Amino acid sequence: MGFDHSLNIGDIIDNRQLIGIFKCSPQGGMRRSLETNTLILISDHTKSVYDDRWISNDILHYSGIGLEGDQKIEAAPNKTLAGSADNGINIYLFEVFEKGKYLYRGRVELYDQPYQAKQPDRNDQLRNVWIFPIKIVGEGSQYQVPDTLIKKKQQTKERIAKRLSDKILFLRAVHSNKRPVSRQVGSSTYELNVYVSELAIRRADGICQLCDRPAPFEDAKGLPFLECHHITWLSKGAEDTIENTVALCPNCHRKMHMLNLKMDVKKLKEEAQKNCCQLTINGKVIYV
Ligand SMILES: [Zn+2]
Ligand SMILES: [Zn+2]
Repeated sequence: MGFDHSLNIGDIIDNRQLIGIFKCSPQGGMRRSLETNTLILISDHTKSVYDDRWISNDILHYSGIGLEGDQKIEAAPNKTLAGSADNGINIYLFEVFEKGKYLYRGRVELYDQPYQAKQPDRNDQLRNVWIFPIKIVGEGSQYQVPDTLIKKKQQTKERIAKRLSDKILFLRAVHSNKRPVSRQVGSSTYELNVYVSELAIRRADGICQLCDRPAPFEDAKGLPFLECHHITWLSKGAEDTIENTVALCPNCHRKMHMLNLKMDVKKLKEEAQKNCCQLTINGKVIYV
């Protein structure tokens, strides 16, 4: 059933091919085509405004469309996606890991009721966005994105997070989905929330939160090298949140993963709590 596009799961095409096949608009994250009765969803990881989150290998919480102010669900194309259980449209998902390269993930369906969340808009104003839980149906649900692309995505997101102002980084870290993204990468690991980890490192301000000593060296950009650590491990079901993360020197990080001593865990929990509702950098309260 559906529209015959003759693409295989995992195929990578460019924008011109995408338009040629689906007869859709050349731009936008959600593109409706009346001619082919399709709705194309694009989850573009090279752009910073939308924060789509994979919940599992086949379920994506997809942000609605609207770059500024509160998003409206009664406006197209959000309305088309919201009504897709009844309007008979075929929906296809593409992921972009590298600019201009659209990886075909398969046919998707709305899986649950759309819900609202808070995210900063392109003017850095906190606003309401609509999130659409969608699920890949058919053969695409078994597909795994190559590790190299997942790593590329993580690096891009880290770069984006590093460029954000303290306030926006804080807002994004606070308002992100708290559940870690468990997309299978290699044997099994998690896609970490880059906003949360970048915030942990930034607020530590070059000092390890376990041994209280300065980072042992600087990275290629001249920034003190610390690593983000989750106090309660994500593999134990913990949340990927500010309250559960600290920045450690590589030595202490190794120590936590080798020994995880109770007294160390207690200290780290206290450190993480200090900044969970306000961000202080260089002794200055940046955001409450
Ligand atoms: Zn240390
Ligand atoms: Zn760790």
